[in-house]
This record gives sequence, structure tokens and C-alpha cells, in this order.
Amino acid sequence: MFTKQHELVRKLAINFAETELEPIAAEVDESGEFPAEIIKKMAKANFFGIKMPKKYGGAEADFRSYVIIMEEIARKSGVASIYLSSPNSLMGTPFLISGTEEQKQKYLVPMISGEKMFSFGLTEPGAGSDAGSLQTTAIEDGDYYILNGRKTFITGAPFADYVVIFAKTDMTKGTRGITSFVVDTKLEGVSMGKPEKKMGMIGCATSDVILENVRVHKSDILGNINKGFTTAMKTLDIGRIGVAAQALGIAQAAMDEAIKYTKERKQFGRSISNFQGIQFMLAEMETKLNAARLLTYNAAYKKDMGKDASKDASMAKYYASEIAQEIVNDSLQMHGGYGYIKDYTIERLYRDVRVISIYEGTSEIQKMVIAGKLLK
Ligand SMILES: Cc1cc2nc3c(=O)[nH]c(=O)nc-3n(C[C@H](O)[C@H](O)[C@H](O)COP(=O)(O)OP(=O)(O)OC[C@H]3O[C@@H](n4cnc5c(N)ncnc54)[C@H](O)[C@@H]3O)c2cc1C
Repeated sequence: MFTKQHELVRKLAINFAETELEPIAAEVDESGEFPAEIIKKMAKANFFGIKMPKKYGGAEADFRSYVIIMEEIARKSGVASIYLSSPNSLMGTPFLISGTEEQKQKYLVPMISGEKMFSFGLTEPGAGSDAGSLQTTAIEDGDYYILNGRKTFITGAPFADYVVIFAKTDMTKGTRGITSFVVDTKLEGVSMGKPEKKMGMIGCATSDVILENVRVHKSDILGNINKGFTTAMKTLDIGRIGVAAQALGIAQAAMDEAIKYTKERKQFGRSISNFQGIQFMLAEMETKLNAARLLTYNAAYKKDMGKDASKDASMAKYYASEIAQEIVNDSLQMHGGYGYIKDYTIERLYRDVRVISIYEGTSEIQKMVIAGKLLK
């Protein structure tokens, strides 16, 4: 499944994560500020265009490389992996699958180089899992569409230059009446809500995007009219493999902490790693992690082989995000009271991992996708 090239990619990612991310991870979590120079370094390493075509500045690597890099970056900083996944996944994919050549040049190129930041605006206060019930409207007016509505929980919105907005162009057609637009955040009528105070993944702000009579030129329609929901679903389909890799990275970090701590910590006159109760927990955690890894790698491999990996991506995202929570929880348990104290990395991992079974489709939605494929 993997080549020597993939192992090289892993080494490169580990090196970056250890030298650039590990030293700042705790400070970013504390301050909520992600250093701009690290974003620049990530862009320089071409981490924002791993899967993107070379003609737009990307590295044109395969899905397995993307998964490997996501995993190793998330192992040292969960929030850094959000910056990495955004252009490769939710923000870049809509342009790749639905953009015109002109739009790709105008938007993908500065996205990959890190010059411009983008967000993906699908969720609304009343439309989460049921994204198709969104209420944002786009009404045709000459060469423009006038957008009104509110998007919620939008990653990176407070600092985004552009947001891809999904809006209803035909209220009578349900999901077949949704169109995607590229909205410049400087346009009149665009404003952002206050950054949410999140439990974890601190350092990449999330907020509402409010649209009040925003005039978007027709040249910024992404894809065909009324085909936006297909763009959104295809994008999420692909994105889920990256989110699964994010779970693997955080779970591996929790394993690393568990092994280190249980060897160091002495109770009853010896390291707690000597107790079979601890050893069995470690063995179970490692087994679950490797099962999740195989599911994720398999989904990436299928994608690389040009096969339909939709069910595999959902299985990987569902299983990896659930067992990552279990592994982080067990690792924290092994830390005893110290695991509850912010000085210990496991405390941050416990908060960071929680969102993975929620965003880009909850575990329940993944199960619906898996069952839907089985029963079709
Ligand atoms: C930190 C963060 C970042 C995010 N970033 C983005 C972003 O960049 N762009 C974006 O568009 N969105 C983003 N989201 C939104 C995210 O995708 C949604 O929160 C998610 O899809 C769930 O929607 P909801 O919160 O409205 O929950 P709801 O849909 O209200 O779900 C509530 C509960 O009901 C369950 N449920 C719902 N329907 C069913 C069903 N049919 N059967 C069984 N159970 C069901 C869900 O699984 C969940 O447990 C982000 C969210 C967070 C927390």
C-alpha cells in the first residue's frame, strides 16, 4: 500500500512537526494565537497544496501522502492540522471539482501559496446534519446575485479573505435548489460573528458569517446553478479521510503520552507500566488505533486507485474519531490526577479530540452514509 516515497513524506512531516509545532503547541492552546510565521512555513513546505495540481502551485501528491502528513502534523498539534486540511480539503476541493479555469487561477493559486485564507460556509443555525435545509438565499439581480442569511461554526471565518457560501437559488427544489458562491469578505454586507469560545482546537477561530444584501457577481458562482449541494457533498466525502487521519494523529499522541508516563510514574514501588491492568489497556488502545489506521489508509488507497471510497471514508471517519476519544480518555486515566492538570499534554488532547466525531458530519451521519450504501 505504501512506497519508499511515502516513508520519505512521513519523515519530512515528522521533522516539521517536531521542530516547528511541538514547541508551540501548548502556547497556542493557551493564547489562542497561531503564529503567522508557522503558517508561512507550512505554505513553503507546500503543505497547503499536497493533493493540488502542480499547475496551481500544488505538489500533486496522492491521498496516502496527504493522510500521512495530516496524521503526523495532528500528532504534535491538532489545530495545525486544521490549517493544513482546509486548503487541501473543504476550501480547495469545491474549486477543484466545480471551478472554471479562471476561478482556479484566481482563487486556488493564492490559497495554496498561503497568501489568501478561505472558509467553507455550509452549516447554519437551523441546518447542521440536515445541511440541505439551509435558509440562506441568493436572488438573481442582473449580473449579480443578492445573498442573505447566516452561516454558523465556520472555521477560519474571522480571518478569511473569501468564504464559499452555499445558498438557495430555488426555494422550491430542496437540495436541488442550492448554488455555491465565492464571497469576498470585504464586500458590503458581509460581517463575522464573534469568535466562538471553543473547548479545544484553540488557535483557529470559528465564527458565524452574516450576509445582508451582499451583491455577488455572477462570475463568482462556483459550478452550475442549483448544483451546489452536489459540490458540498462531494467535498465532504473527500474531506472525511483527512479528518480520520487527524483522529489518528491525536490518538497516537495520546499513546505516546501514555507509554512515556506509565514508564515514569511509580506507585507501589514500581512503574505503573508493570501492572497488567495498565498493560492490557495499552494493548487494547494500540490494537484499536491500528485498526483505525488500516481503515483510513485503505480509504486513501482506494481514492488513489480511482475507486469509489465514499463508504470507506465514512467508516474511517466514524471509527477513527470514536476510538481516538476512547484512547485519549484511557491515556488520561493512566495519568491519574495529573491528566486533569493543564501542564500535561493529555489534557489538551482530551479537549482537541472531542470535535472530530462532530464536524464534517457527526458519527451518526457517517453511520447513515454507511448503512445507506449497504441498503441501496
Ligand atoms: C469547531 C467546529 C468547526 C466547524 N467548522 C465548520 C465549517 O468550517 N463549515 C461548516 O459549514 N460547518 C462547520 N462546522 C459545523 C459542523 O459540521 C456541524 O456542527 C455538524 O455537522 C453537526 O451539526 P449541528 O451542530 O447542527 O448538530 P445537529 O445536526 O443539530 O445534531 C445534533 C445531534 O443529533 C444527531 N442527529 C442529527 N440528525 C440525525 C439523524 N437523522 N439520525 C440520528 N442522529 C441525528 C447528530 O448526530 C448530533 O448528535 C463546525 C463545527 C464545529 C464544532
